[in-house]
Amino acid sequence: MKYMKKLMAVLLMTAIFVVSGAQEESAKTKTDLVVVLDAGHGGYDTGATGNGLQEKQLTYKIAQYCKAELEKYNGVSVYMTRSNDSFISINRRISEATKAKADVLVSIHINSAPSADAKGAEVYYPNSNYRPFCGSKGQRLASAIQKNLVNLGLRNRGIKTLNSMSGNTYSDGSAADYYGIIRGAKLAGYPGIIVEHAFISNASDAKEHLAGNYALRQLGIADAKGIAACYGLKKTGSATASLEKTEITKLTGKSSSSAYIEWDTVDGANGYEIYRSTSRYSGYKQVAAIKKRNAGAYTDKSVKAGKTYFYKVRPYCMSGNKKMTASFSKAQKVRLIKKPIISIGTLSSSQVKIKWKEVSGAKRYEIYRSTAQDGKYQKIAVVENRLSFKDTKAGKKSYYKVRAAGSGINGNTYSSYSKVKWKGSK
Ligand SMILES: [Zn+2]
Repeated sequence: MKYMKKLMAVLLMTAIFVVSGAQEESAKTKTDLVVVLDAGHGGYDTGATGNGLQEKQLTYKIAQYCKAELEKYNGVSVYMTRSNDSFISINRRISEATKAKADVLVSIHINSAPSADAKGAEVYYPNSNYRPFCGSKGQRLASAIQKNLVNLGLRNRGIKTLNSMSGNTYSDGSAADYYGIIRGAKLAGYPGIIVEHAFISNASDAKEHLAGNYALRQLGIADAKGIAACYGLKKTGSATASLEKTEITKLTGKSSSSAYIEWDTVDGANGYEIYRSTSRYSGYKQVAAIKKRNAGAYTDKSVKAGKTYFYKVRPYCMSGNKKMTASFSKAQKVRLIKKPIISIGTLSSSQVKIKWKEVSGAKRYEIYRSTAQDGKYQKIAVVENRLSFKDTKAGKKSYYKVRAAGSGINGNTYSSYSKVKWKGSK
């Protein structure tokens, strides 16, 4: 029996070892990220034309510039669905990508519209149906590329999904993606996106962003850097070359003496550093370093009521024993609200007036009541533009507390609760 137990344990451990060994094995045999670039149109299919330009020529050049830039990174293999000016069907593009063992397919296009005013960049990514990871990864890639295109000065038309207009579905009955290249990639098991770089039909887009090799190269580099950032690719000899900076997505006061911060996580990061100052442009000191690659939030409890604080966050990664940091996020501001000081006036057996002094930074006040001092408090009112509240439903024993609320970034800022006062207290 004892021996059996031991044997079982050994078998179990072996099994675990084999499983983790197998995972490592597959990670080793497929080290490179495979990016397939799909230069839209070709051959007799010129794509859109305008302002003396042909889409098929522009997409091919952008794809080549993108490839050249991407190949400066480690751990990536780049393939093209077409390597000359010939017509290729959508199905063929997908099968080429699948044959290359694509992790992602990036289809490169130029936009056109009947209205000459339409301009700017937009990226289509897979909807969240059928294979949701294609949607989520595709969305992240789309926004990474779009950000870079907008940084070149292109109008931001956003990132988008588009469902089949004729009611086509995936095998699970969910709405299919409209674009064949996105749908085909998803069916083959990897995300596909369509980057519409600029409008060939718009004179200023054509002149600024499509005419000439310099402009096209900027577009190709923007795509490549977006891909690198999204997949955490690193350039030779520089671990931080592709470590993207993050941005603060939420900043609020959680109480009078704690601030709450959220930020976007960044691929390739090993952790995040949080910096704080009492002025926007100087005096930042590190308040925390979180050693977690997927950490996206922090509560700072070393702050004081009534004060204004600025926060910045930056990702870091480790290269051997060396810590490399990305640049800082934009600074964001939060003003912590002091807790109200309240007083109680008893008007009758069931009427109580709760009063408080104005608290700076407050936009409204929340009044809470309980039947026991340490009991469960219920929010009974939210008051704006007033510094008192008359409770007409006071019980024999009613305890009150009030907190102030103001605005934060993507959320409310709250003060701590006031001291509890009970009916009859002054
Ligand atoms: Zn096109």
